[in-house]
Amino acid sequence: GLGLTGAMAYSIYELRHPEEQFEPDPSKKTLVILGTGWGSVSLLKKLDTENYNVIVVSPRNYFLFTPLLPSCTTGLIEHRSIMEPIRNILRQKKATVKFFEAEATKIDYEKRVVYISDDSEIKGDISHTEVPFDMLVIGVGAENATFGIPGVRENSCFLKEVNDAQNIRKRVMDCVETAMFKDQTPDEVKRLLHMVVVGGGPTGVEFAGELQDFFNDDLKKWIPEIQDNFHVTLVEALPNVLPMFSKQLIDYTESTFKEEEITIRTKTMVKNVTDKYIEAEVTNPDGSKAIETIPYGLLVWATGNAVRPVIRDLMGQIPAQKNSRRGLAVNEYLVVNGAENIWAVGDCAITNYAPTAQVAGQEGAFLARLFNTMAKTDAIEKELQHLSDNQSQAKSNDERNEILDEIRERQKQLRRTKQIGPFQYSHQGSLAYIGKERAVADISWLSGNIASGGTLTYLFWRSAYLSMCFSSRNRVLVAVDWIKARLFGRDVSR
Ligand code: NAD
Repeated sequence: GLGLTGAMAYSIYELRHPEEQFEPDPSKKTLVILGTGWGSVSLLKKLDTENYNVIVVSPRNYFLFTPLLPSCTTGLIEHRSIMEPIRNILRQKKATVKFFEAEATKIDYEKRVVYISDDSEIKGDISHTEVPFDMLVIGVGAENATFGIPGVRENSCFLKEVNDAQNIRKRVMDCVETAMFKDQTPDEVKRLLHMVVVGGGPTGVEFAGELQDFFNDDLKKWIPEIQDNFHVTLVEALPNVLPMFSKQLIDYTESTFKEEEITIRTKTMVKNVTDKYIEAEVTNPDGSKAIETIPYGLLVWATGNAVRPVIRDLMGQIPAQKNSRRGLAVNEYLVVNGAENIWAVGDCAITNYAPTAQVAGQEGAFLARLFNTMAKTDAIEKELQHLSDNQSQAKSNDERNEILDEIRERQKQLRRTKQIGPFQYSHQGSLAYIGKERAVADISWLSGNIASGGTLTYLFWRSAYLSMCFSSRNRVLVAVDWIKARLFGRDVSR
């Protein structure tokens, strides 16, 4: 058995060996892409990789389908169902693309070098090095905003990455099982079963809805003792939740939450967090303010994005970025202002659009088109140069005219390819699941809002997500998870 495995491994190694030997082609530019999120991956998918020496750097060797991440917190969907290995995407490209699983710790704009560091558990002899670039695309996203509020980082769960969802899943069950511990006091049971979500944007709303579903569909049937005390509260500083949706959809969400018995606390701004309670400033209807203490078992912090340190550092190196606060200011071709040959996509770039997956995806696709065109333009220009050399050496008039025709044709081609307009976002609509098999949708191409509940919107939400899920493999996995939960309920093991 061992011999056969050995032989197989050897033959695979032999087969792959030539490909693995990635020698950068000196005639091509080196294009470094940072990140494996919505922006970078949609660029990679559409990029003609044979035009550049392409190198991808990311601490995550997979793409994560973030819209379904809230469903992972309750075990409705298994996290691996919404992960797509980056290697799987890269092996489908025509030319070899290098991938380094590492974090970009510093971008030196003057030297045109990215410093990278292997932050995984296992490290080889080399774990810090540098990657030089001719062209750089930054798609590293953002980190969780905490606004410097004390205790947030230490005590709350975020909802951005796979391990965040896993933490929440474990923590919910931990709270439930601890509340059921022998001789627990009634107050402590209440606290442990109080699930508090801070931030009434789509992340907070979707998570609160999924968690309440979990309770209604499974938890309260399996552990009826928690029935009277399990409670979800959504805390929002502004006067209403989902500020990006229309008034009608906000009202619909708020009334659905009321039916579901999720408490929404608006005009409530969290100022301090300890391991057992949050302190919030509440604005009363008469305008007066009061500080309130709210005990919790689970705290999920979903208050939006903040700039990553590596981006802040780069902004400090570029004078044109001095007045930018929320991220890299870019021009209409997504070029980082004041930095030649550096582009930015997704949540680390500041455009006129909200920091959503849809925007990042379209930006990535736009850059792919831009880079493909640039390569084509270069190729035509080279040919033109070659043709005009030939023309001056032509022996007969006939030959010269023939070349001239060819030159005109190439020039026409060049004008056509050069006509690539600036990036324009085309909004396809917003969709948010709000629990109880209901979703809110504002679909721009239907020129109106759909705020409906029940099976139809729910099915629409589901089919929309299934058709968006990247690979057919992911589609199958997510569908199976849904069926599994229908048949057997969610898995409540910790
Ligand atoms: P967000 O920025 O949209 O919302 C954060 C909310 O937290 C705000 O309403 C803010 O007022 C509130 N907040 C901030 N500090 C607070 C405090 N101390 N106390 C109480 N409340 C506080 O964040 P998000 O929901 O993570 O979304 C981020 C981006 O991703 C947005 O652009 C959003 O549109 C997008 N997104 C879209 C979907 C979807 O379309 N279904 C889902 C998730 C995220």
